[in-house]
Amino acid sequence: VPRTITAHPERRLSVGAKIPLGLKRKGLRIVVTGGAGFVGSHLVDRLMARGDSVIVVDNFFTGRKENVMHHFGNPNFELIRHDVVEPLLLEVDQIYHLACPASPVHYKKEKCESLTDVEHKTNVVGTLNMLGLAKRVGARFLLTSTSEVYGDPLQHPQVETYWGNVNPIGVRSCYDEGKRTAETLTMDYHRGAKVQVRIARIFNTYGPRMCIDDGRVVSNFVAQALRKEPMTVYGDGKQTRSFQYVSDLVEGLIRLMEGEHIGPFNLGNPGEFTMLELAKVVQETIDPNAKIVFQENTQDDPHKRKPDISKAKEQLGWEPKIPLRKGLPLMVSDFRKRIFGDQSTTTS
Ligand code: NAD
Ligand code: UDP
Ligand code: UDP
Repeated sequence: VPRTITAHPERRLSVGAKIPLGLKRKGLRIVVTGGAGFVGSHLVDRLMARGDSVIVVDNFFTGRKENVMHHFGNPNFELIRHDVVEPLLLEVDQIYHLACPASPVHYKKEKCESLTDVEHKTNVVGTLNMLGLAKRVGARFLLTSTSEVYGDPLQHPQVETYWGNVNPIGVRSCYDEGKRTAETLTMDYHRGAKVQVRIARIFNTYGPRMCIDDGRVVSNFVAQALRKEPMTVYGDGKQTRSFQYVSDLVEGLIRLMEGEHIGPFNLGNPGEFTMLELAKVVQETIDPNAKIVFQENTQDDPHKRKPDISKAKEQLGWEPKIPLRKGLPLMVSDFRKRIFGDQSTTTS
């Protein structure tokens, strides 16, 4: 039986609707799936600050209540523990669909094989449900896809028109192909059911509230350097990634949702670093004596990745503002508090 949450219909405003003169703009009602996660919680902060009503839907698979606890008690905020693989009935104007067990630990550890089913199911069935919801209530739907749709790219930097180089049966494919299917479903609902959709292809993002032990490279290196453990560089460390600070991403997501263009749009910082260069920046920021150990790399690891963001610059008027050396210290102070214990549970 689908869950029904009764909304306040008088709060609904279709996106772009003209507000009659003399009436104050009522906030939109916005669902953020995965809103208790890293990116989602920063997005929720921005939407709440703008005066909108926000419903976070999260099953806490990798998200944490602590990330959104500072909104508890605010009448504009609701938190629903719910798995998007199950249907959900809500009345809303916009859906930011972020829910996805995105941590690489799950697909990179053989022991966690069964979790890859969860991942694929969330990307496919979860996205289908949220599109069904968008169709029923006429909401605008934004999918957070990923640069992983480009796989191990043969084109560099990656432009949105590139179709990618993805292994459909590899260990990463639950994520890559899951998101590719999610993009397909999104465009199908747009063409077939006329749902208003937006697609963001997010490149590696870091910042405060990132999961400490989820296995992504920036969180690993920062946590390792703080704990005086060696930083684990996989392979020869010459593979590249481009790292985006979370506030830049949130700005891009909001511009995309509010704008006129469907996308897909690459949202990432074009600053490209090898993993060895990243380790060096972490040394500079935390501990010049931090050690490096080399470990075997995972299968199908993309050799390089860097977004071409011309389209987002031109059509959304967006570009990232925070370079790695400026953003990393902001993340480090949050990690320091969380690792070594501090009374404050939330950070911005
Ligand atoms: P995250 O793990 O912090 O957040 C994901 C959230 O989704 C978590 O709160 C988790 O509990 C929730 N979730 C997972 N499965 C769910 C389900 N079935 N039902 C309800 N909630 C569920 O990860 P993040 O970095 O904040 O990623 C947010 C989105 O951005 C994801 O869709 C991810 O694929 C995408 N993305 C992130 C990056 C990045 O570098 N952070 C890069 C590319 C794409
Ligand atoms: N759905 C949902 N909430 C809604 C409307 C639909 O979770 O408010 C789910 C629904 O259960 C279905 C999916 O979204 O599994 C796709 O819905 P759609 O109406 O497009 O397809 P249909 O139900 O006709 O197969
Ligand atoms: N990586 C690494 N050490 C780590 C974790 C990851 O060298 O402790 C490498 C990984 O092999 C990949 C890159 O860092 O080449 C980025 O990995 P991450 O999982 O953060 O992101 P993705 O592969 O999804 O871009």
